[in-house]
Amino acid sequence: MKLLIMGPPGAGKGTQAERLVKELNIVHISTGDMFRAAIANSTEMGLKAKGYMDKGELVPDAVVIGMVKDRLQQDDCQSGFLLDGFPRTVEQAQALDKNLQDLGIKLDAVIDIEVPLDKLMARLTGRRICKGCGSSYHVIFNPPVVADKCNSDSCGGQLYQRDDDNEASVSTRLNAYMEKTKPLIDYYKAQGIMKAINGDQDIDKVLVDVLAAVK
Ligand code: ADP
Ligand code: AMP
Repeated sequence: MKLLIMGPPGAGKGTQAERLVKELNIVHISTGDMFRAAIANSTEMGLKAKGYMDKGELVPDAVVIGMVKDRLQQDDCQSGFLLDGFPRTVEQAQALDKNLQDLGIKLDAVIDIEVPLDKLMARLTGRRICKGCGSSYHVIFNPPVVADKCNSDSCGGQLYQRDDDNEASVSTRLNAYMEKTKPLIDYYKAQGIMKAINGDQDIDKVLVDVLAAVK
């Protein structure tokens, strides 16, 4: 299954993606995770991306488009993938369509996780991520069993707060979403593959709704 998950920052894309890829046995392609890995490895691309990410700005289209194009050509994507955090601009969406066409692939569905904007700041400033496996937690809405430790598949990794999960950066990211990414809802509606999901419910209920929408 070839899927794309979208929604504003904090909607729960990463949380659902983590569960969906296990359920559907497909690979998770998160451009944010790819940039964070590049930063951790101090690659040239990571250094370039970090300045934009810390401020909450989008990394330039050319960088992201090339990165995803390379990723989609890898063998593990052939049996299915879930794109998360890409595309974020109309230019990225058009480039993705072209890449998929060249690869002879069609998206099965685009999942749009809808959450009222006034709930996103609290979700993002309370988010904690596992250093080991990347699992997403929340200090109040989805706390780990043991404070600051990951309980996913007995990973036990240390939880940390992302550099860009502060109020200033979140405000910039929400503005970037409204201006550049939200128009993609109409873009994919026009392709007839958009599935809107209520993301303002329990994490498990959101998953049930997503699975029902794509199966
Ligand atoms: P995104 O990948 O869309 O930016 P995340 O999946 O990382 O968002 O979720 C953002 C924060 O909100 C995390 O702290 C996560 O634990 C929490 N969260 C995710 N889904 C829900 C939900 N349905 N209800 C409450 N909090 C949620
Ligand atoms: P995310 O992990 O999806 O919240 O992304 C974190 C940050 O990485 C964003 O705020 C951007 O700076 C950058 N980023 C991730 N994906 C993209 C993309 N498709 N286009 C531009 N920038 C991106």
